Amino acid sequence: AKKLGRNQICCFEDEMQQKFHQRLKIELELREAINKQQFKLFYQPVIDPINESLTGFEALIRWQINDVIRTPDEFIEIAEETQQISAIGLWVIEEAISTLSKWNQGRRKPLTMAINVSAVQIGDFTVVEAISECLLKYNVPAHLIEIELTETTLLKDSMTSRQILASITEGGCHLSLDDFGTGYSSIAHLSNHPIDIVKIDKSLMPINSQDIRNIALVKGLVSMASILGLRVIAEGVETKQHSLFCQELNIGRAQGYYYSRPKSQHDIEKEYL
Ligand code: C2E
Ligand code: CA
Ligand code: CA
Ligand code: CA
Repeated sequence: AKKLGRNQICCFEDEMQQKFHQRLKIELELREAINKQQFKLFYQPVIDPINESLTGFEALIRWQINDVIRTPDEFIEIAEETQQISAIGLWVIEEAISTLSKWNQGRRKPLTMAINVSAVQIGDFTVVEAISECLLKYNVPAHLIEIELTETTLLKDSMTSRQILASITEGGCHLSLDDFGTGYSSIAHLSNHPIDIVKIDKSLMPINSQDIRNIALVKGLVSMASILGLRVIAEGVETKQHSLFCQELNIGRAQGYYYSRPKSQHDIEKEYL
């Protein structure tokens, strides 16, 4: 038993060391990633569940080194801890807005673009300047842009972050609360901030018609949003049933693998534009 215990400790230490090295590796590689143009944006279609028509996209970052594509869960947290997220975030804003500008050329009904912004970026006004400069530069109306925030951003709730969020909405962009229904999202948070869209987290999509817990939860969140005058987007729509459920609840917009996975700019242009 003693021997086993020791082995386990060794394995544990090995694992810790491996994790530490992996982090360090990513931190160092991140420093070169922008200059080497290794970041790409993928775009996931946002759909009106009633007629399955396209209303816009969410931009989701990918990091490609040679043929290996890293997803955000492998590097966003590290980028936040090392403040590198600020520079990455500015790149995301410009790339997403310039792409939207291109896609909306000559469209009768313009598409929207949702951009994920980290709590770290809401620490100074650079983000506000970047958004307004890009809107001007690429001639995109502000109301087509939805800045997606998480609970963490609202929890910071400093004077500065309040002013930054206010400036973003005064500029005409929408603010949306991501992962709604998880964590500590409370009515207080919602009414204390200029949020006007909530995204119901994918973990709340009912598994089937017997999943009364999630069905009730989503219904509750939707009616709460309606009382507060917030628009709703459902995430994680993976099946026809999910899509019908969204229709039933009058959820205006939805995203998920049922409609489309996030795709490269090239693939989106081929399929949708
Ligand atoms: P999120 O904003 O909640 O994005 C939704 C995630 O769910 C995406 O993962 C998307 O690919 C995935 N997804 C979409 N449809 C479905 C579905 O039907 N079923 C399931 N199971 N998953 C679905 P992804 O692209 O790996 O992004 C993960 C997270 O990384 C995002 O969560 C967001 O918080 C963060 N992130 C992504 N891009 C950026 C960015 O440019 N900046 C910042 N700060 N964070 C980003
Ligand atoms: Ca999001
Ligand atoms: Ca989400
Ligand atoms: Ca998330």
